[in-house]
Amino acid sequence: MIQRTIVHIATMLGSEVSGTSNDISIHGVSTDTRSIQAGSLFIPLIGENFDGHAYAEDAYHKGAAAILWQNDHGAAPEGIPYILVADTLAALQRLAKAYRKELPVRIIGITGSNGKTTTKDLVASVLGSTFEVHKTKGNLNNHIGLPLTLLQLEETTQFAVVEMGMSGRGEIALLSEIAEPEAAIITMIGESHLLQLGSRDEIARAKAEIVTGMPSDSLIIYNGDEPLIEQALGELALPAGLRRIRFGHAESNDRYPTGIRMDADGAYFTINSTDYPELFIPLLGTHNVINALAAISIGEAFGASPEAIAAGLRSLQMTSMRIEKLTAASGLTVLNDAYNASPASMRAAIALTEQLSGFGRKFLVLGDMLELGEHEEQFHRGIGAMLSPERVDYVFTFGRLGRFIADEAAPHFPEAQVRAYEDKAQLAEELAAMARAEDLVLVKGSRGMRLEQVVQSLLA
Ligand code: ATP
Ligand code: MG
Repeated sequence: MIQRTIVHIATMLGSEVSGTSNDISIHGVSTDTRSIQAGSLFIPLIGENFDGHAYAEDAYHKGAAAILWQNDHGAAPEGIPYILVADTLAALQRLAKAYRKELPVRIIGITGSNGKTTTKDLVASVLGSTFEVHKTKGNLNNHIGLPLTLLQLEETTQFAVVEMGMSGRGEIALLSEIAEPEAAIITMIGESHLLQLGSRDEIARAKAEIVTGMPSDSLIIYNGDEPLIEQALGELALPAGLRRIRFGHAESNDRYPTGIRMDADGAYFTINSTDYPELFIPLLGTHNVINALAAISIGEAFGASPEAIAAGLRSLQMTSMRIEKLTAASGLTVLNDAYNASPASMRAAIALTEQLSGFGRKFLVLGDMLELGEHEEQFHRGIGAMLSPERVDYVFTFGRLGRFIADEAAPHFPEAQVRAYEDKAQLAEELAAMARAEDLVLVKGSRGMRLEQVVQSLLA
């Protein structure tokens, strides 16, 4: 984490220190008085419902060594060392960028509609057996989380693997300009944020912005199965000497899988290189094999050996399992993916459920996918159209949009095997009564649908 004198930090911010004549030493930054660290710099951010300036004195009393103060907020509290700035958020970002520039660290930025956190964890694991690696904690991937992640880096960190998220145009460009990644990954283009961006082309353009802050001779690694990424890159002024590596299912990619098999522990796969034996990741789903190809490409580009790469994949430590495999006391297996849903992640989770073998009947519990904009009905119908009684046995939908999945699927299934519910408790009750020990249930929907309640009642 950042360790600098307050005078040095003021210089990084183009400002000066007030309220003290001593050159205090600062260790780390904090934006939240609930997790303040002794000796840190408190940065009061202004949110929709709160203004951190109200907590500045509290932060000082809890051990912060100094604070930033935004100059339109009147006088800073008495007796506290502070640095006056025009905008505390901009100052956080400027400080992160300046600190990053003082370090010898190599930064890898990761964006994409789905799979960012998973790929971040895979990349950190692949590099981790060869280098000193820091990765974004949890999902701190926005205009506040990314700067905080950079300010956590140690002087000894060799690689930082940082997640970059967005909900509109210009956001990834900003993050890229702060982090100046030497390599970047675009995992895939889905339909998340379609409401804000209007089209998949625009989503691809928003992700391609990651090249904006990349230095010359840097490396972009992207999903070659998605023509929109290449198209979006083609519209941008690219860094001089930018190198490209493409990954995906298609054999036209630089890295593609040559065989994939799955059991309940994870995925086994081979790739188009004789340097590797069969590889293993403790993750379910073909989409995660594709995420792993991006991580392999990074390992290769930065000189990790095939053995180190294979070991890194095998020993993956996930931030949190998004598709969580749970077993009820009855023996019933539940795939909990109730954390969130977009069409791409829903298709991926269904494909995974279809592929897993060794189970009795397969149940899908699918809730609304929210925030999809004007084509929301079409996306739900599209999910319904991909379902077949040859691959799954029962489809239970929940919610107003979920009904479109059911409407589309029902004609292809035997009577009563596709059911649309408006009442979650009723769905959970009927499902619990039907499911047997040997069966498999996938539960997936947008956050707002709170389908974890169905998971809980299945496990109870
Ligand atoms: P967020 O925007 O919430 O930070 P993320 O991009 O970090 O999401 P992950 O947390 O890695 O994504 O994965 C979220 C879900 O997306 C997973 O549960 C999985 O179902 C799905 N997913 C992951 N990788 C892919 C992929 N390559 N293609 C499609 N779906 C994927
Ligand atoms: Mg994430």
